[in-house]
Amino acid sequence: MPTEKRGVVVGAGVAGLAAARALVDGGASVVVLDKGRAPGGRLATRRIDDAVFDHGAQFFTARDGRFAPKVAEWRAAGAVVSWFEEALRGARGMSSLARRLADGLDVRTGVTVRSVARSDAGYAVTTDDGERYPCDVVVLTAPVPQSLALLDAGGVALDPAVRAVLAGVAYDRCLAGMFAAPWPPALPAHGVARVDGEVLAWLASNRAKGISAVDAVTAHALPAWSLAHWDDDDAAVLAAMAAEVSRHTGGAARPVALKRWRYARPTGCVDGPVAVRDGGAALVFAGDAFHVDGGRVEAAWLSGIAAAAAA
Ligand SMILES: Cc1cc2nc3c(=O)[nH]c(=O)nc-3n(C[C@H](O)[C@H](O)[C@H](O)COP(=O)(O)OP(=O)(O)OC[C@H]3O[C@@H](n4cnc5c(N)ncnc54)[C@H](O)[C@@H]3O)c2cc1C
Repeated sequence: MPTEKRGVVVGAGVAGLAAARALVDGGASVVVLDKGRAPGGRLATRRIDDAVFDHGAQFFTARDGRFAPKVAEWRAAGAVVSWFEEALRGARGMSSLARRLADGLDVRTGVTVRSVARSDAGYAVTTDDGERYPCDVVVLTAPVPQSLALLDAGGVALDPAVRAVLAGVAYDRCLAGMFAAPWPPALPAHGVARVDGEVLAWLASNRAKGISAVDAVTAHALPAWSLAHWDDDDAAVLAAMAAEVSRHTGGAARPVALKRWRYARPTGCVDGPVAVRDGGAALVFAGDAFHVDGGRVEAAWLSGIAAAAAA
């Protein structure tokens, strides 16, 4: 990519940060915009009083030959540590990984992108506060329905075949409950419990994981349960989930907070990024849905790297 290329990456999750790093390394000048308060997207660590919760992605793997050497670098720098078996985690929660990925990049958080339109430069990305970013390359890493809405808002019409591929990407939802609950010695010392029943998909102690100084348990509801209870109020969701957490841990779980992941994991993935090129301009869709084995941190990173190569 020639040095004068200007890129805007929408989304500072793993995919967006990986794409931005690769574009910058290729000589582009890149701005990453994210509506969240901090980079990371679904890599999310929350502190509530003394309790620390990873409430999005819980761990990640490094199976791919391109990802593994990067992870080795992050491990050497102390940002990433082993958790159990092949599972890795951020040193101080999964957001440690996001901070590491964002290091040295121009990442602007608290900035909501409103539209992506064509312009003389190629594209123009406009934010809710009226800022306009003309650029040659746009990488869209928000969940696909949100990325399509940005193009609709900017009047960018996609080839119907491309649009149909993108419209096929759907997502499971996840209700993520955070609880104060003791972790009994009968459960695995690494902090991940087996779950059964029709409510929970995942149950883990952030204290046993090594990121919280006090009892802090994260529970993820199954996709079907999350969908069925999506419109219930927080107290009802947390009460139902707390009963399940208590049943599995044998103690009384106290609800602390609820996070609703509307786009938790993609259900229909596309094999690789989708790029629309026109002269020197490029529009690239990336994110964890753009990998054959998607819905994972590793897949999101690989998709970001592939997106930069396709730009
Ligand atoms: C509950 C849960 C558990 C999971 N567990 C695991 C696990 O254990 N292991 C694993 O490997 N993976 C797990 N995953 C999946 C993993 O988190 C994702 O695959 C990965 O983090 C996706 O990264 P991404 O960059 O593609 O998307 P995201 O992280 O979603 O990033 C997209 C970014 O776009 C931003 N954005 C959206 N719209 C706009 C806009 N208009 N303007 C500005 N910014 C915008 C968002 O704020 C977000 O930061 C889990 C996910 C969830 C939700």
